[in-house]
Amino acid sequence: MARARKKGIVDGDRRFHAVVMKLTGPKAMCGAGRIRLTLPDHFESSDALACAECGAAVRQQQA
Ligand SMILES: [Zn+2]
Repeated sequence: MARARKKGIVDGDRRFHAVVMKLTGPKAMCGAGRIRLTLPDHFESSDALACAECGAAVRQQQA
């Protein structure tokens, strides 16, 4: 079963990123930086505003 990721927003970027929990706090999976706001629903790479790099990273993990 694939683990669903939360989606979040980083500063200065309107795209949705997949969230990775680090000891220092939530980070964008693609390396875009610290998550400013975590959204209650899950990251979907098919989302129109989804970050393409995060989408690729999520697909790689689920393969
Ligand atoms: Zn991203």
